[in-house]
Amino acid sequence: MQRMALYFSTLENNKIKCELCPHHCVLEDGQVGFCLTRRNQDGAMETLNYGQITSIALDPIEKKPLFHFNPSEMILSVGTFGCNMKCPFCQNWEISQQVAPTKSVSPQQLVSIAHSRGSRGIAYTYNEPFVWYEFVLDTSRVAAKEGLYNVLVTNGMIEREPLKLLLQSIHAMNIDLKAFDEKIYAKLGGDLKAVLRTIEMCVEANVHVEITTLIVPGVNDDLSHLEKEFQWISALDKSIPLHLSRYYPNYKYHAPATSPALLIEAYRLARKYLDFVYIGNLWDPEYEKTVCPNCGTVSIVRRGYDVEIVGLDDEGRCSKCGREIVRIF
Ligand code: SF4
Repeated sequence: MQRMALYFSTLENNKIKCELCPHHCVLEDGQVGFCLTRRNQDGAMETLNYGQITSIALDPIEKKPLFHFNPSEMILSVGTFGCNMKCPFCQNWEISQQVAPTKSVSPQQLVSIAHSRGSRGIAYTYNEPFVWYEFVLDTSRVAAKEGLYNVLVTNGMIEREPLKLLLQSIHAMNIDLKAFDEKIYAKLGGDLKAVLRTIEMCVEANVHVEITTLIVPGVNDDLSHLEKEFQWISALDKSIPLHLSRYYPNYKYHAPATSPALLIEAYRLARKYLDFVYIGNLWDPEYEKTVCPNCGTVSIVRRGYDVEIVGLDDEGRCSKCGREIVRIF
């Protein structure tokens, strides 16, 4: 399925500049961008992955992870190939760092699949959805028109204008904040300022936001950097849920998995600043449960993807004190 790309400008000698993400790739005729998904074709930009799906599954929404948005639902989850970052520890490198086999689907077909599988929403996940921009935009518009909600699981690397447009049909996001340091971001092929701007814009647009930080030994495990991150999130909104996730060796990075002791130390530090903090990939219910920050009532108990809502009313408020805990769409 061919589709011309949005957000590029033409330069001299048939060159073009992509303006979708902060890399601003300048491409000669025939050249493909850093993300593997956008090509200069005769002086115009075409997408290489429009409607191309590498993975599709019905997942618990907690797997995204989203803990405070429609808890305990299953959601149709889809991904393509490509990414605009190059993390050596990528957990999904088979589809993010190379062109992978795909099946074609149209926006309307994908929305029909969501309906037929009983999903009330669609999650664009597994690889970076911003490098699938045109397909996510078209599909999320069709889905929203038909009463479905749309979720992005993203690294946050996008320019202001395309984000503004896409947010009109997005309801919830989990955004990776990989480190709180420009130099670390640059090594991973990213841009900290752009990611922070994305988080701010999403909060401003009243899109539900959760943040994930994968704690990788030797990369971003400095507690003083992490504390700055927690302070920054807290200043924006201390009720943004934060997932501190355990790294396991993968792709080109082979350091041992993050120690549970470090994760727990980071968790305790984060809790000083934030209302809702979780540890991912540790599978310890103590660090997966939701507790009302106002009155201490346990709202949700989780054992992995086994989710039990124990202290919420129908509108997602604490059943004891009425404090808003989760968003229900
Ligand atoms: S979206 Fe891809 S092609 Fe466009 S600037 Fe970013 S990395 Fe380059």
